[in-house]
Amino acid sequence: MEKTADIVIVGGGIIGMSIAYHLAQKRAKGVVLLEKGMLGEGSTAKCAGGIRAQFSTEINIRFSLESYKTWDRFQEIMETELDFKKVGYLFLASTEEEWAVFQSNSVLQHKFGIPVELLSPREIQHRWPYLRVDDLRGGTFCGREGYAGPYEALSGFARGARRGGVKIFEETEVTQILRNGNQVAGVRTPRGDISSPVVVNAAGPYAGEVGKMAGVEVPVQPYRRQLFFTGPFPHISDPIPLVIDFHRGWYFRREGAGLLISGPKDNFPSFNLNVDYDAMVEVAENSIYRVPVLEKAAIDRGWAGSYEISPDNHAILGEFPGLKGFFLANGFSGHGFQHSPAVGRIMAELILGEKPSIDISCLSVERFARGDLIREPLTAFKD
Ligand SMILES: Cc1cc2nc3c(=O)[nH]c(=O)nc-3n(C[C@H](O)[C@H](O)[C@H](O)COP(=O)(O)OP(=O)(O)OC[C@H]3O[C@@H](n4cnc5c(N)ncnc54)[C@H](O)[C@@H]3O)c2cc1C
Repeated sequence: MEKTADIVIVGGGIIGMSIAYHLAQKRAKGVVLLEKGMLGEGSTAKCAGGIRAQFSTEINIRFSLESYKTWDRFQEIMETELDFKKVGYLFLASTEEEWAVFQSNSVLQHKFGIPVELLSPREIQHRWPYLRVDDLRGGTFCGREGYAGPYEALSGFARGARRGGVKIFEETEVTQILRNGNQVAGVRTPRGDISSPVVVNAAGPYAGEVGKMAGVEVPVQPYRRQLFFTGPFPHISDPIPLVIDFHRGWYFRREGAGLLISGPKDNFPSFNLNVDYDAMVEVAENSIYRVPVLEKAAIDRGWAGSYEISPDNHAILGEFPGLKGFFLANGFSGHGFQHSPAVGRIMAELILGEKPSIDISCLSVERFARGDLIREPLTAFKD
C-alpha cells in the first residue's frame, strides 16, 4: 500500500466514491480511497435508491438538480447501466398542517422549474385507485423522480475513479487520523500509515467516530431504518410511484416483481443493524391502512441500514475549522445516495481550492456551534 498520498478518502460508499471519481475527472493525482470492509457495504448497500427533487429547502433542491445532470446521462457518462425508473414520487398529506407545508414547498419547487403537481384526494384516487384517500388532505406528485440501483451507481463511480488513477483499498480500516498541530498529516491503518496533507471523512454513519480519531466533533449519529420486501405482487398495476405516507413515515415502491416496503425508523441512535421481525406488525398495519390490497402480500425478507443523521437533517460539508486539510462530507440524513453526484463534484472543487459550483456556506459544521441550523417547516422525510 502507498506510504504517501496527496488526498486520502476514508470510506468507500457512494459519497467517498463520487468524490474520488470527481477528483479523477479533474486529473487530481495521488488520490487513495480506504474502505474498512467491501465497497458499498455501508448505508449505500441498504438504501432504497430514491431520487427526487421535492425537497423543502433551496440547498437540497440545488443538490437534486445538479445531481440530475449525472443521473439523467449516467450510462453515457459512466458506461454503466443505471436503470433509473422514473415512476414519480407521490407524497401524501393527512393533516391541514402537512398540506399547507406541501403547498408552500411546491411554490419553492416551481420556482426551480420542478414540475410538481398538487392533487386532491379525488385525483389521487382516480390515478392510483388502490390507495386509501378518505383521510387525506391532498398530495404532490412529480413524474421526473423515481429510483435507481445504488450498487450500479457505485460501480460507475468506482470504474471512473480507477480509470483516473485513484488507488482503492478494501479491508483497510482507518484507525487514527494523524495530525501535525492544526494540520492533518495522514492516516493510520493496520497495514501501515499513509502520510497525506488532505484527509476526507466520507465514513457515512461512522463519521462521528472518524471525527473522534482526528480529535474533533462531527455531529452525525446513526439511526436504524428497516426495509422489507414482498414476494411477487401482481395485484397493483404498474407503474407504481414511490408513495410516501408522510404522516406515518411510511413508503413503498415496486422492487422487481414484488414490493419494497419501509419498516420503522428508530428514534434513538445506535449501530444496530438487526431486523426485528416484530417490526412486521407495524409494517403490516401501515401497509394495509394505506393500500388495503396489501393484505394479500407476504413479506419474504428484510434488512436494516443506518441513516447518518445531523442535528438539522442537512449535510455537513467543508474543511473542518481549525484542522487544515480535514474535509467533511457527512450527515446526509437519508439523502446521500441521490445527492452523491453533486456532493462529489463540490467536494472535489473544495479540496482542489476551487470555488464550489453551489454555495455551500450554510452547510458548514460551524453552524451548529453558532446555533444557525437550517430550519424546515416539518421534520425532513427520510427516504
Ligand atoms: C434503509 C435506508 C434507505 C435509504 N434510502 C435512500 C434513498 O432512497 N435515497 C437516498 O438518497 N438515500 C437513501 N438512504 C441514505 C443513503 O443510503 C446514505 O445517505 C448514503 O448511502 C450515504 O453514503 P456514504 O458513502 O456517506 O455512507 P456509506 O455507504 O455508509 O459509506 C461509508 C463507508 O465508510 C466505511 N468506513 C467507516 N469507517 C471507516 C474507517 N474507519 N475506515 C475505513 N472505512 C470506513 C464504511 O464501511 C462504509 O462503507 C437510505 C438509507 C437507509 C439506511
